[in-house]
Amino acid sequence: QPIVAVVGRPNVGKSTLVNRVLGRRAAVVEDVPGVTRDRIAYDATWNGRRFTLVDTGGWEPDASGLAAQVSEQARAALDTADAVLFIVDVVTGATDADEAVARVLHRSGLPVILVANKVDDLRFEADAAALWSLGLGEPHPVSALHGRGSGDLLDAVLAALPEAPREVFTETTGPRRVALIGRPNVGKSSLLNKIAGSRRSLVHDVAGTTRDPVDELVTVGGEEWLFIDTAGLRRRVREASGAEYYSSLRTASALEAAEVAIVLLDAGEPLSEQDQRVITMVVEAGRALVIAWNKWDLVDEDRRVTLEREVVRDLGRVGWAPRVNVSARTGRATDRLAPALRTALESWGTRIPTGRLNTWLGEVVGATPPPARGGRVPKILFATQAGVRPPRFVVFTTGFLEPTYRRFLERRLREDFGFAGSPISISVRVRE
Ligand code: GDP
Repeated sequence: QPIVAVVGRPNVGKSTLVNRVLGRRAAVVEDVPGVTRDRIAYDATWNGRRFTLVDTGGWEPDASGLAAQVSEQARAALDTADAVLFIVDVVTGATDADEAVARVLHRSGLPVILVANKVDDLRFEADAAALWSLGLGEPHPVSALHGRGSGDLLDAVLAALPEAPREVFTETTGPRRVALIGRPNVGKSSLLNKIAGSRRSLVHDVAGTTRDPVDELVTVGGEEWLFIDTAGLRRRVREASGAEYYSSLRTASALEAAEVAIVLLDAGEPLSEQDQRVITMVVEAGRALVIAWNKWDLVDEDRRVTLEREVVRDLGRVGWAPRVNVSARTGRATDRLAPALRTALESWGTRIPTGRLNTWLGEVVGATPPPARGGRVPKILFATQAGVRPPRFVVFTTGFLEPTYRRFLERRLREDFGFAGSPISISVRVRE
């Protein structure tokens, strides 16, 4: 989601404006000029569009030249922002520092929305117009305190943001889409037959579905699910040469259309390389994942022990996926599939509010700071969730983060927020 940095001299009303935009008193309002704060990031929504608002600490004019007047925080914000809200106090008018910053913003090439704040009454309209002289385009007169002009301002912010990336999946009221996959002979068609029973119906015209007649509506756990490419399950793949190749093609295209995958494994046999490949395909496709061990009726006490060992050794990397032990033959535990699917899909669509994410990040990094590199400890500035389905996070830093530390953050994120059944990713952006 796009990032909007709020910059301006101390005491021009940044925090009040952020509160106005957020519609609640979330930002820390400081009345004392010159109080430097760390940057705080918040989620904001306007007309259904989400963006992250980063309230910068402002900058301190000092004697060491124009560039130094922009504080480190404000500059970091500029490096990571998609647009800038530049706030000027009309009562004071544009100061030398404002002009210096205007030049920095102009050079940044970012879209800048110039805000003439404290236009609490009409007397100040003319002063707002005077800010055209900053060379940043039209000044938007607002009163952050009274809320005047904030709607128009938010419209201008949205207009300045980059086009919304097309969500891979649009929200749909139709059935959730499931790919039932696994290597040949693990029992996919048996399981489908068992859970669907006589209630199978071919899909011809279900709103919001692919309308592909090979997809099938199946009732599981009292709810209808769209099973993708069931024709591939019914048509038995013979042990012909290339069978594995074609079955992996089908798996890939089923995953493409699905939101969640049930990877079926044969509990009676050791995990094979092909099983691992199927799991990797799900993770790489970014789909929610449920692992089902089939043929549980064949599992005796001895096998149960070796299987637990295999799970730890071979499935550790997807330890977050719900596991269900089923039998297509007896119907054992097949009623546990639907709750597992629901859990995985919920995790897959989870969005952590930016404020909460950053509070969490502050605590984790405070307790366990990143290791130094080349004698310097990289500073972690803030994080934002860039997307859902699956959840994707971006952490902004002042320096390279060791991969082990990135994995540490990922592990802690899972420990504290769950995400059972969904892959998640954390990428790091280092500001120059
Ligand atoms: P697919 O290739 O994954 O669709 O596998 P099938 O559904 O065709 O099943 C392959 C073989 O495993 C068949 O002989 C099934 O009868 C057998 N099978 C499937 N599920 C189970 C199960 O839960 N328990 C046992 N014992 N056999 C099963």
